[in-house]
Amino acid sequence: MPLLTRLVGVLAVLSVPVAAVPALGSAASAALYVAAVALATAFISLTVRHVPPARRRAWRWMQASLVVALVAEVVFKYLQFLDTERWPTPADALYIASYLPLTIGVLGLDRQRGGRLRVGGTLDTLIVTVSAAATALVYLVLPMVVNGDLDVTGQIVCTLYPLIDVLTVFLAARLLTGPGGRTLPTGLLVVGLACLCAGDVGQEVMAASSGSALFPRWMNTLWLLFYLCVALAAYRSREGYEPPVTPAGHEGARVTGQRLIGLSVAAALPTVLLLVSDVRGRGEVIALGTATTVLLGLVMARFWDLHRQLDEQTRQLGALAATDALTGLANRRTWDEELPVNLATSAATGTTLLVAVLDLDHFKRYNDTFGHPAGDDLLRRAATAWSDGVGAAGLLARWGGEEFVALLHCPDEGTGLARIDRLRELVPDGETCSIGVVRWDGTEDATALLGRADKALYAAKRLGRNRSVMGPLGGPVSGPVSGPVSGPVPADPVEVPPRIHAR
Ligand code: GH3
Ligand code: MG
Ligand code: MG
Repeated sequence: MPLLTRLVGVLAVLSVPVAAVPALGSAASAALYVAAVALATAFISLTVRHVPPARRRAWRWMQASLVVALVAEVVFKYLQFLDTERWPTPADALYIASYLPLTIGVLGLDRQRGGRLRVGGTLDTLIVTVSAAATALVYLVLPMVVNGDLDVTGQIVCTLYPLIDVLTVFLAARLLTGPGGRTLPTGLLVVGLACLCAGDVGQEVMAASSGSALFPRWMNTLWLLFYLCVALAAYRSREGYEPPVTPAGHEGARVTGQRLIGLSVAAALPTVLLLVSDVRGRGEVIALGTATTVLLGLVMARFWDLHRQLDEQTRQLGALAATDALTGLANRRTWDEELPVNLATSAATGTTLLVAVLDLDHFKRYNDTFGHPAGDDLLRRAATAWSDGVGAAGLLARWGGEEFVALLHCPDEGTGLARIDRLRELVPDGETCSIGVVRWDGTEDATALLGRADKALYAAKRLGRNRSVMGPLGGPVSGPVSGPVSGPVPADPVEVPPRIHAR
């Protein structure tokens, strides 16, 4: 990032408090205010070039919005300087026009993050927007429009400003409810839009009550904060921000307690305002309004309870889908997900990774002799013992039937091999098992790795069972893992010296 951009950024930040210093209405105050807006506009113009091309277009629209707003501010201050009584002025048309590129920019940013229609997020946004629209209509539009002093143009502009406030609320809600609502660029934009909306509403209320166009310091500061936040958001968006990836079918926006409270407040707002404005009014309005608000709270509470139950069921289903019903171990699905993750970990940390296939010897005979339930019990007990034997540095999963797979991160091959071979001692009831072990060569994929382990197991069985065989390090083995292993037995299989002598 060039020095000039950083310098302009620092000046843009510093100009916000500085602009609030001179007395209101002075030429210095107007000049400093316009200078602060110009600095924010210059900052976004310098920054936007560094935003990656895929995301740049949305920020270009926001830059355009700031440029139009800057022109509007200059025109406004100039007309104020001329002390004209006329209202609305061309500055109002420019202010209103600046919301168009802003809207396109924010919606473009939102599309980048979501890509598809998000029903939940859209409903949340609509709840907040309708609530804001009803409030704006009753408290901002109607009082001004019925004001007999205004001509048609004045009435149109008076109506447009509150509608734009509602649009600002819509944009902020859209950003906040979508995926990635809590990233820094989005957060800055939301804060900026909130400042803009607060400033605009303040202005409209003041204009309606006093007719003054000399806005207090806090109002000017809010607008300056809006310009600054948009520029800073573009600056933060230039690098390191990736839109969050949401799995298919998920919106990436969970219904949190916080969100539900926000939505409840938005949904209840018009009724509460109706009640407040009708305190001295008819009893039935108060009774029905109160009941509506309470009912809304109860429906939301019910919804929250349902959501909580659904969350719990989803968690249970997730656990069921990941574990083997008989042994409680990780199942094949989990293994298939975990193995590539562990390969990546091994590559990143540089630890030795061993993968083993374990198969109970003559298990069919055990079943035939003691019965299927006893066979199940043996599988369960073997799984528990092996799980402890593998420990926290590895993972044991049931591959299927009486075959299990294990992975182990170890400091060196010898230590890991000894640990895996010791699993043979843990088979209950004096039964035995055979183990095929291989070391990941650092490059092969999960299928090739398991294929080699399977070949080593085949060799262990062929050599007489109740033993571990270490497969040779080989290049990638292609072809399926399951099914009869074709081709030669691994060249020169190395048998691990058995701790228990083969019977
Ligand atoms: P080898 O030493 O060559 O592995 O012989 P084996 O008898 O263990 O292997 P084989 O593939 O011939 O037989 C596997 C047996 O495992 C057959 C099947 O009934 C039994 N089996 C598979 N899954 C289960 C299970 O969930 N419970 C029980 N009790 N038996 C199972
Ligand atoms: Mg077997
Ligand atoms: Mg088997």
